[in-house]
Amino acid sequence: MTEELFRTDATLTHCSARVLAVTEQGVVLDRTVFYPLGGGQAGDTGWLLPPQGGELPIADTRKEKGEDGQPTGRICHLPAPDNPELLSKLKVGDAVTARIDSARRQRLMRFHTATHLLCHLVREPVDGCSITPDYARLDFHMTEPLDKEQLSAGLARLVAAGLPVRVGSVTDAELDARPELVKSMSVQPPRGSGTVRTIRIGGADAGAELIDLQPCGGTHVVNTAEIGAVVVTKIEKKSARTRRVVLGFAQA
Ligand SMILES: [Zn+2]
Repeated sequence: MTEELFRTDATLTHCSARVLAVTEQGVVLDRTVFYPLGGGQAGDTGWLLPPQGGELPIADTRKEKGEDGQPTGRICHLPAPDNPELLSKLKVGDAVTARIDSARRQRLMRFHTATHLLCHLVREPVDGCSITPDYARLDFHMTEPLDKEQLSAGLARLVAAGLPVRVGSVTDAELDARPELVKSMSVQPPRGSGTVRTIRIGGADAGAELIDLQPCGGTHVVNTAEIGAVVVTKIEKKSARTRRVVLGFAQA
């Protein structure tokens, strides 16, 4: 298994780790700050710094798949093709520093938290989601039209409110009892381990309004103020029953 440090602290930008394997799927570490593609959020990029010096660029991060196609619980760091020599020298047991491209990750986190705010503004089921460093899009299962300016204003209000974003968990039983927590029709939370990770926005103190609470494995900013100038750039009618909301950074 790879210890997933980003699950409990998304602000970590680097960590020390040991190489468990170098396979066709990538470099497997015993612990990592790299988020693997999943839940609509893109995988991290960055660098591995091997003991002999140099920087091995990492182009993407994925969950390792076993021969049966199922995730093994290990995380693969996909080397960019730039530095085959450095990669060939990497050995099992090597102590490395794993460092993400933190500016890129910050953009991913701002967008991911913003998509949860959209779930508060548009109370409809989500049937698709994609979070990239340059834009995010969220597909709502609905027939009513949405207003771009109104949603951008709603986002700006929640960003200006500086709401805390907290990682928590619910038990599988609690989740079964509260099916409304699951907003996504396309991604089901991973049950079976007993608890499911949640992201809560607002509602931290008694009397504070709970803005959003849902199962999510992704990385988030710790306060909505960090989202900054994110706006709705486009609303598309993808189908009779789907409205796609596209988020981007406001032009300076
Ligand atoms: Zn999420």
